[in-house]
Amino acid sequence: MFHHVKELQFNARVSKPDPRFASLLLEQFGGANGELKAAMQYFVQSFGLRQSHPQYYDLLMDIATEEFSHLEIVGATITMLLDGLNGQLKEASEQSDLMKLLGGKGAKESIIHEAMVSPQFAALSGGGPTPTNSQGVPWQGSYVNSNGDLTVDLRSDMAAESRAKIVYEYLLQFTDDPLVRESLQFLMAREIAHFQMFGAALESVQPNFPPGILQGEQRFTHLYFNMSNGASARGPWNQGQGPWRPGEQWVYIDDPVTQVRETRGQLDTTTLGTTMSQEQADSLAKELGKKRSSQIKEKIPKGENQWSSYPQTNTASPTTVDSAK
Ligand code: MN
Ligand code: MN
Repeated sequence: MFHHVKELQFNARVSKPDPRFASLLLEQFGGANGELKAAMQYFVQSFGLRQSHPQYYDLLMDIATEEFSHLEIVGATITMLLDGLNGQLKEASEQSDLMKLLGGKGAKESIIHEAMVSPQFAALSGGGPTPTNSQGVPWQGSYVNSNGDLTVDLRSDMAAESRAKIVYEYLLQFTDDPLVRESLQFLMAREIAHFQMFGAALESVQPNFPPGILQGEQRFTHLYFNMSNGASARGPWNQGQGPWRPGEQWVYIDDPVTQVRETRGQLDTTTLGTTMSQEQADSLAKELGKKRSSQIKEKIPKGENQWSSYPQTNTASPTTVDSAK
């Protein structure tokens, strides 16, 4: 269950309203790399791990819940950056307090004008956050990556944290408000922490490469196709041992057109670069498949099942008392 605590995880503050920056900040509320996406991604991924891998379930749900807390901080900041707009919109006369404070007749036009950078503030939400990105495009479920394989999901999560981090880094360049910057710096630092958590969790799953179970056909896993003309860049991604095991290396195919013709479209390609035979790869995949599947099967009871367990109690008396009576 969720239980709401009214204090924010980080005490969001603003020095003054800034509707322009509020509209940019929406990117972290309802954007493709924002807090709602992160929260929903880890939340959705967690279900399949509840019984089979409770330790990773705990990690994902803790971070998902923290992301909802970040969403709350971003929403609170947007609302404060728009302060005055909601009241202003409700003020039919041109004599509102805010307008007097800001110095008169042009104030309403200027605030509305700035809000029009993101028209939904003026025309739709009336001064609060909307579940959209900074361009007003609605948040969508397709932002969520969840594939039911722990090593795949953790890699998606490291990618999500990288993107969230860089969006905060970009956003920091567009506000001078020291109080807003303080919140953004907290949020950005937490994405760095999450990246490290997901990385450590991925390392704790062994083997974690390749993603999934199947090992890939050994004839093709170590080939680099030089698919362009002109000068070729070489590096650990296409040269030497690179990321492979000792004794293995990349096989650089300098002229892929000739290679395709000579191998009749790979039919005659032989295994190069790897020391693992296809038979070894197949039996490795078989073993790994068995191991992963039994890890799940032995944790999930056959027939009746329940999500939660509760401590045994001796009394049947209610544990809540309505003291207001
Ligand atoms: Mn976050
Ligand atoms: Mn995060």
